[in-house]
Amino acid sequence: MTILILTGMLVLVGVLVLYVLELGRSRRLLLKAGNAKKALRSSEELFRSIMQNVHAFILLIDRNFIVSRTNYYDITKAHRPEGRLARVGDLLRCNNALSAVGGCGTHELCKDCPIRNKIEETFQNKSSFTDLEAVLNIRDRRGDVAECETYVSGEYMTIDDKEGMVITVHDITRLKRAEGELLKAREKAENADRSKSAFLANMSHEIRTPLNAIVGFSELLASAGTEEEKTQFLEIVHSNNDMLQQLIADILDLSKIEAGTLEFTFSEVDVNQLMSDMEQLSRMRLGEKAAVIQVIRETPPEDCILYTDRNRLMQVIANFMTNAVKFTDEGSITLGYKACADGLYFYVKDTGGGIPADKVGHIFERFVRVEQHKKGTGLGLSICEMIVRKLGGKIGVESEYGKGSTFWFTLPLNGQTTRKQGTEIEGKTNL
Ligand code: ADP
Repeated sequence: MTILILTGMLVLVGVLVLYVLELGRSRRLLLKAGNAKKALRSSEELFRSIMQNVHAFILLIDRNFIVSRTNYYDITKAHRPEGRLARVGDLLRCNNALSAVGGCGTHELCKDCPIRNKIEETFQNKSSFTDLEAVLNIRDRRGDVAECETYVSGEYMTIDDKEGMVITVHDITRLKRAEGELLKAREKAENADRSKSAFLANMSHEIRTPLNAIVGFSELLASAGTEEEKTQFLEIVHSNNDMLQQLIADILDLSKIEAGTLEFTFSEVDVNQLMSDMEQLSRMRLGEKAAVIQVIRETPPEDCILYTDRNRLMQVIANFMTNAVKFTDEGSITLGYKACADGLYFYVKDTGGGIPADKVGHIFERFVRVEQHKKGTGLGLSICEMIVRKLGGKIGVESEYGKGSTFWFTLPLNGQTTRKQGTEIEGKTNL
């Protein structure tokens, strides 16, 4: 009997121990399950925040290109349509997909779509691809279509035994634009650098030529035998002196422009009087050409007073006139001005050689010279362009090669507006 009781108690204890052990195990399992749930929840949260914050569209697609999950609506804040399953092109608003009744994949151009072809190939190879560069024509909500440059990547996978793919679409339009602008800026800087080196080489040559002539003919002047010889040598010295002065003035103007210290002195300018002075100056500059070139002045009869920088205005017209005289062999040079929508329109028209069509667009750039055999620095027009711009106007040229050119610029009537933009120093302005 005692044995029986003892055995019974032992069994009871054993059952109790087993029960406690089982209880512990289930508790541990419950804890594990709880932890796993927690971990799942946090990884889902992490996944969601990545999807919402990443700078790319992420699309989970099936074998028919249908998007089952995406962050597209989170990023674009576009309305998520109920129940309708979109294909890749429909979702991204590809213009071809939206133009076809059947949507993405049914437009005749879809067979040439690089993204579709790459995805198809990746499904077949069960592989992946990265950074496929493709241009998409995207239609916005207003119906406007714009080119969008993208990097597309894809990774094949199976989910619940079904084939699928994760697609990442990066919009790199802005990046590409910035890259293009950077390249342009670099090219411009390199060109400027090359031009400067060429300018320096050119300058030393250009300065040496008149300087040598001045030095050489001054020495010859001392030993000139006749009055005629003296006059001839003096003329050469004078003309080279003028050239040297112009060259140095151009270089100084250019360096002031670069440093932003070119001064403008504003006053009331009688435009008709100024044009008359310019006409006289042009006649003087014609020299021997006076016999074959007529100078015509076209100015309105009524007085016109302009508040501007007289010297800079004269500098621009004089540059146009000097060029017109230089590049015209016969015919006429007309200088004038008239009222226009922007204020006043000044022009110098010649019947000279004109400028080839492919050069016209570059003629206001520094150091550009079409006729290399003619004297010049290639700086005058770029200085004119900058002066006119600072005075608030526009500048341009119309030219027909072999027939002549019209160089023009406009100035606003209210020079005051421009004046206020600079810093005034005792009536002078550094614009
Ligand atoms: P420069 O005359 O000292 O060379 P500019 O900047 O004034 O410098 O002119 C640049 C170039 O533009 C000239 O070398 C010439 O090839 C061209 N050009 C300017 N004006 C005329 C014109 N009226 N007719 C033809 N070509 C012109």
